Amino acid sequence: MSVLWQARFFTTVNRLADLPKYQIPEVAFAGRSNAGKSTAINLLCNQRKLAFASKTPGRTQHINFFSIGGAHVGQHRKDATRVEEIRAFMVDLPGYGYAEVSGSAKEHWQGLLGRYVQERQQLAGLVLIMDARRPFTELDTEMLAWFAPTGRPVHCLLSKSDKLNRSEGADALRFAHAILSSYVDDRQQPLPFSVQLFSATKRIGLEEADATVRGLLGLKSETTENGPQ
Ligand code: GDP
Repeated sequence: MSVLWQARFFTTVNRLADLPKYQIPEVAFAGRSNAGKSTAINLLCNQRKLAFASKTPGRTQHINFFSIGGAHVGQHRKDATRVEEIRAFMVDLPGYGYAEVSGSAKEHWQGLLGRYVQERQQLAGLVLIMDARRPFTELDTEMLAWFAPTGRPVHCLLSKSDKLNRSEGADALRFAHAILSSYVDDRQQPLPFSVQLFSATKRIGLEEADATVRGLLGLKSETTENGPQ
């Protein structure tokens, strides 16, 4: 059983000014729409409908916060002492790449997403979910380019890896390592970018993903002897 199983819906945000003010670590989940982001979050949190798996663009363009620990009261409640017990946030970012979204709506969420990943102090790291059969699309690399200057960790989940055979999986990992190692900081040092194969349906890579997210959130040691089940 993982501490991530405690995740509860906390708030939904459509403007940067509304981001929670708590100084606790956050890990954000990003990816193209349909990459398997909601399914991955739900599996990590052992809940069926925490993140909203939906293809309706209008309903997925907000930033959703899930709290770990605490009494799970909403941020607008007056009971601040209970809110303070919250120890970390998992953050579900709007999926990108909807063909249907255009014009001002697109600009709005691009601004929201870009500024959140570039400026959010509490953001300890990013989990980037990409379909293992089509990783590093243009929008994925745009997201990496936005985030790279922060110097913070990115962990890539190559999702739906159940669709690949063993050698295709190895190839996908090699390809991903090659791309990720091309990102360097100002001093030409590699950035803390990592990657793994993941499948929600076959539970491939679940323990590694769980441990990585907990590590980023500073909750590394918090699991039972059996690990996530
Ligand atoms: P999101 O838009 O990134 O949140 O994607 P969803 O989590 O809604 O998943 C998109 C589609 O991919 C859904 O039909 C899921 O059932 C499917 N899917 C998600 N994870 C997996 C996986 O590990 N393996 C397979 N084969 N399909 C998956």
